[in-house]
Amino acid sequence: MSFTIHGAGVSGGIAIGHAQLASHALLEVTHYTVAKNKIRSEKARFDRAIKTVQKELKNLEKHIPTDVPEAEFEAFINLHRMILEDSTLSETPKDLIESMSCNAEWALKLQLDHLVEQFSKIEDSYLRERKADIRQVAERVLKALLGRPGQAPVASIEENTIIVAHDLSPADVVVFKHHKFASFITDLGGATSHTAIVARSLNIPSVVALHQARTLIQENEMLIVDGTAGVVIVNPDETVLSEYRLRQEQWYLEQQKLKRIRRTKTATIDAVEVELQANIELPEDVKAAKENGATGVGLFRTEFLFLNRGDLPSEDEQYEAYRKVVNDMKGCPITIRTFDLGADKQVEGFSRVAPNPALGQRAIRLCLAEPKLFHHQLRAILRASAHGKIRILIPMLSNVHEIDQALHLIAEAKKSLDAEKIKYDKNVEIGGMIEVPAAALSIQTFLQKLDFISIGTNDLIQYTLAIDRADDAVAHLYDPMHPAILGLLSTIIKAANRVGKSVAVCGEIAGDPNLTRILLGMGLKSFSMHPAHLLTVKQKVLTSNVDELRIATQKILRTQNPDRIDQLVDAMNV
Ligand code: PEP
Ligand code: MG
Repeated sequence: MSFTIHGAGVSGGIAIGHAQLASHALLEVTHYTVAKNKIRSEKARFDRAIKTVQKELKNLEKHIPTDVPEAEFEAFINLHRMILEDSTLSETPKDLIESMSCNAEWALKLQLDHLVEQFSKIEDSYLRERKADIRQVAERVLKALLGRPGQAPVASIEENTIIVAHDLSPADVVVFKHHKFASFITDLGGATSHTAIVARSLNIPSVVALHQARTLIQENEMLIVDGTAGVVIVNPDETVLSEYRLRQEQWYLEQQKLKRIRRTKTATIDAVEVELQANIELPEDVKAAKENGATGVGLFRTEFLFLNRGDLPSEDEQYEAYRKVVNDMKGCPITIRTFDLGADKQVEGFSRVAPNPALGQRAIRLCLAEPKLFHHQLRAILRASAHGKIRILIPMLSNVHEIDQALHLIAEAKKSLDAEKIKYDKNVEIGGMIEVPAAALSIQTFLQKLDFISIGTNDLIQYTLAIDRADDAVAHLYDPMHPAILGLLSTIIKAANRVGKSVAVCGEIAGDPNLTRILLGMGLKSFSMHPAHLLTVKQKVLTSNVDELRIATQKILRTQNPDRIDQLVDAMNV
C-alpha cells in the first residue's frame, strides 16, 4: 500500500531507495506461549540465532569499509562480539523461555529491556551510552530469529539505503559522514536541531519530525524522500516513481548549473559586496566549503571534535585540527567557535541529566564551569592563529560577566603561551554569538566589549519563541518570520552597522534563499551557512538590489500580521 508522511525537510533534493530501520527498538516483537514439549527446540532456535550473528560479525571483520579507520571498525566489532557472548544476552533469554514458556523473540525483548534499564542507571556516561550497542546487537539476534539475518545498523549501509530512525543524536549523524547512503528520516527532531544541521552537512535529502515513520515503515520498503517539501512517500507506484526520478534529475542539473557561479564575485546588482562563508563541523568539511566557493569559515562548530569518543581531544590534537582548517582554506578567514557542548551534545565526564538541558549548563556556561578544558581549547586556537587569520567566537553569551570572564580566560591563555614563547596572533579578534534574547536586547553593551558578532538564529528563535528546537511536537512553531524575531534581527544588525563592527548570521536562516533578501534589506552583508546552500544563496544575492530591498524590508518590519508578512516576503522573491 502506498502512503505519504509529512515532516520537516532538512536538506534539499530527492532520494529514492530502500528503508533500513535503525535502532529497531524491538517494536514488532510478538508474544506467544510455547508448549512445554517445544521449549527445548525454542531454546535451540535462540542458540542458532546467536551463532548466525557470531558468523555475521566474523564476516564483517573481513570486509572493513574502506572509508572507516580500521582500528575504529575493529573496536566496534569486538565490542559487539563481547556483548553477544556475554551470558546476560546469550544465556539468560533461554532461562526466560524456560521459566515463562514464551517465544525466543519475547524472551530477548524482556532481557533487553532489563539490560537497558540497568545501563540507564549507570553513572559513568561512557558505559551508559553502551546501551545503544546492546540494542544493536539484540536487533541483530532478533533479525536472525525473524529469518532476516544481516543488516548491521551501520556497517552495511549502502548508497540506495534510507535510514529510518525514531531518533538520532548529532553524534550518531556525524558517524554517517563515513558512509554513503541516500537519505535518513526520523520521527523526532526539528529542522534546526543539531541532528538536522549535521544532516545538512552530509548534503543528502532528509526529513525529520515525521512522528510515526519508524512505526509505519517496514524494513526494505521502497521510499521516496523529498527533502525540500519534507515529504516521504512509502511504496510509491510506477507513475509516482518516474515523476520523482525526473525531479531528481532536474535537481541534479540545477545543482550542476549553479556551479558556474562558484567563482563569481558576490555582489548585488547595486554593487553591495556580500560575504558568503561556510559552517563546518569537522576539518574534512572544508572540501565542500571550497567546492562551493566559500570565502572563509564563518562558523566552525568545534564541539564535534569532542563527540563519539571515550576521551577528550588534547590541546595538540585540537591545534592540529584548527591548523588543518586554516591551511586548507588557504588564507581565508576562519571563525572558530569555542565548544558548544551540553544540551544535546554531551561528552564523557561532563554530561549531566538536567531538567531543561537547553537552558542548562551549555556552551560558554560549561566553558566557565570547566576552565581547564576551556584553557586547552583557547591555547590550541591561539596557537593555530599563528598560521592564518583566525577569529574566536564565544557561544551563548547572555550577560556582561560572561563576556568579561571569557576575555579574562583568553588573556590567561595568551599569557601562558607568552611564558612558553609560543607564537600566536596578538590581535586575534574575539566575537560573541547573539543567540539569547537578553544579548540581543543588550546589544549595545555587547558591541562595546566584542570585536564582532555572529547571530545564531537557531537558538535566538528557540529562546525567543520558547520552543525546544529538538522537539518535533513544537517544530511547527519555529518561525523565523515572527515579528519579534524580525524586530530583533533588524535591531542587532542596525546596531552593529552603526558602530562599524562586523555582523554575520550563522544560523540556518542564512542558508535559506527565501530569506536572503529580507536579511540584505536589514543591512546584513555577511552570511555563514552549510556549504550545500552557498551557491543557491549566491544566486539570490547576484539578482538582488539592496536599495529596493531596504524599503520593502521596512514595510515588513512595520507589519504584525503573519500572513501579510509571508505575502510581503514572497513578493520580495519574485
Ligand atoms: C545557532 O544557534 O544559530 C547556531 C549557529 O549555533 P548552533 O546551531 O550550533 O546552536
Ligand atoms: Mg547556537
